[in-house]
Amino acid sequence: MAGTVRTHRALDVVDLSEGTEVTLAGWVARSRDMGGILFVDLRDASGVIQVVVDPSELPEAEQLRMEYCVAVTGTVRPRPGGTSNPDLATGDVEVGATGLEVLSPSDPLPFMVDDRHDVDELTRLEYRYLDFRRPDMAARLRARAAATNAMRQAMASLGFLEIETPTLIASTPEGARDMLVPSRLRQGSFYALPQSPQIFKQLLMVGGVERYFQFARCYRDEDFRSDRQLEFTQLDLEGAFWDEEDVRSAVEASIVAATAAVRPEASAPGFPTLTWREAIDRYGTDKPDVRFDMELTDLSEVFEGTEFRGFGGALAEGGVVKGMNAGALGLSRSGLDGLVERAKELGAAGLAWAVAEDGGSLRSPIAKFLSEAEVAGVVESLSAETDDVLLLIAGPWRSSSEILGQLRVDLGKPKGHDELAYLWVVDFPVFEETDDGGLAPAHHPFTAPHSVEEMRTDPVNALSRAYDLVLNGTELGSGSVRIHDPAVQAQVFETLGISDDEAERRFGWFLRALRYGTPPHAGFAVGFDRLMAILVGASSIRDVIPFPKTQRGVDPLTGSPSRVEEAQLEELGLDVRPEIKAAWEAD
Ligand code: ASP
Repeated sequence: MAGTVRTHRALDVVDLSEGTEVTLAGWVARSRDMGGILFVDLRDASGVIQVVVDPSELPEAEQLRMEYCVAVTGTVRPRPGGTSNPDLATGDVEVGATGLEVLSPSDPLPFMVDDRHDVDELTRLEYRYLDFRRPDMAARLRARAAATNAMRQAMASLGFLEIETPTLIASTPEGARDMLVPSRLRQGSFYALPQSPQIFKQLLMVGGVERYFQFARCYRDEDFRSDRQLEFTQLDLEGAFWDEEDVRSAVEASIVAATAAVRPEASAPGFPTLTWREAIDRYGTDKPDVRFDMELTDLSEVFEGTEFRGFGGALAEGGVVKGMNAGALGLSRSGLDGLVERAKELGAAGLAWAVAEDGGSLRSPIAKFLSEAEVAGVVESLSAETDDVLLLIAGPWRSSSEILGQLRVDLGKPKGHDELAYLWVVDFPVFEETDDGGLAPAHHPFTAPHSVEEMRTDPVNALSRAYDLVLNGTELGSGSVRIHDPAVQAQVFETLGISDDEAERRFGWFLRALRYGTPPHAGFAVGFDRLMAILVGASSIRDVIPFPKTQRGVDPLTGSPSRVEEAQLEELGLDVRPEIKAAWEAD
């Protein structure tokens, strides 16, 4: 056997002429015994090639099992007539083995290393290295690298400088909980892992960098309610002397590049823009999926002066009546009542359904309360045709729109991601009201308001220069024009109820930096994992993150997070609370 140095990869064999001698190396993906001759599918990172082995000449072949790592020497030849495999890039050729060496055997496998078998996700994560050998996962790793490359090139060609920022930092406010790292040298003090490089990229702007980008690992210690991870990757960028238009075009360039690298068959994406208000008004969400219509319609005018108390009451309180034509859903009475239940779960006081009938009438539990003109107004405003299901809700503008918007997604969202609908949502509010009646930044506290005056006098309604990028109903990232005037920044802290002392203590160094000739600047961060999941059609971001945590924040492969030795805690000046230790013992 000609040693283990391989001369070619599986895919290269296609281009070799008959009779070429090759040494290949890879894994036994499949081995079939056909009348004493072994047909081995040998897989390496480039693909799969059929190797034909005669065990009477190469007795080592008897030991071969699935996923053994082997080297094979042999001669390239066409497959005999009629035995080509059109599903394989190398399907017209094979290698007749003259030498075989087992480089490394494999234990029996916990699951089949192919795409034909469904494998439970926990097992896949526990044996992630075997999962990577499955063609689907291998393709996702390649797609991720291709997208990273394409975006990096797009940014570099626009003159952006790739700069790393630290991951052991002082806490940055992005609205989530920080992950903390105890300091050994300064016991009792903690580093925070960055929720984003926000403050550092702004400092780079103060430092005259003008165009910065980075693939940044960010950490947010959030409960795993949905498809989130404790650590994730952003394409983070910032620029000086530019505004939202410039940011958007740089982000679009990087998105177009990633899309072309991963989904070359997809048509070049467009990037329409909606204001936040329009998005809530028409789609009931700040991340509309615009691949399907089912838009919400304001029916308040139709019901002006209505006798129907359910709607009249809401209008009298300054609310709205909103409706949506969900189309001919063909739902039974209990199916329709199920929608009412769902709306209530979402916080609605009620939801009215109506089914359009021939002749412009409505079949609905509320039909008897509506005047002819109201029925006609609803039918016309919602362009209702026979059998269409109409959903009506009354109450405050935002919550009513959002509940209907969620029903819109429940009923209309396309299953896969064959089509890619990018969308900008702009002009978000500066602040959001918190449950305890206070204000929190809708984006983060470094976001510039459209008007400082408005922010001061009417903070609840003030709009900001923040923008989100949305893809197929998922928020792909956010950014904003930043505050570059320290007085305005101090004003925001004040509105947020952060005292001068606290602002000085937490951000004094940042406010000081702003006083040294800070250029106007703006930036953005693309959630790279989410982008990848949609581009490759994965159902979860865990499928595009090489080593993700489970929904419970655990890595089943390495067992993190794990307890540490008492001595390590001591070095850090830490102790674990007795009740927690007691719980360990009970474990
Ligand atoms: N730092 C922000 C985030 O991580 C993005 C930005 O404003 O640039 O969401």
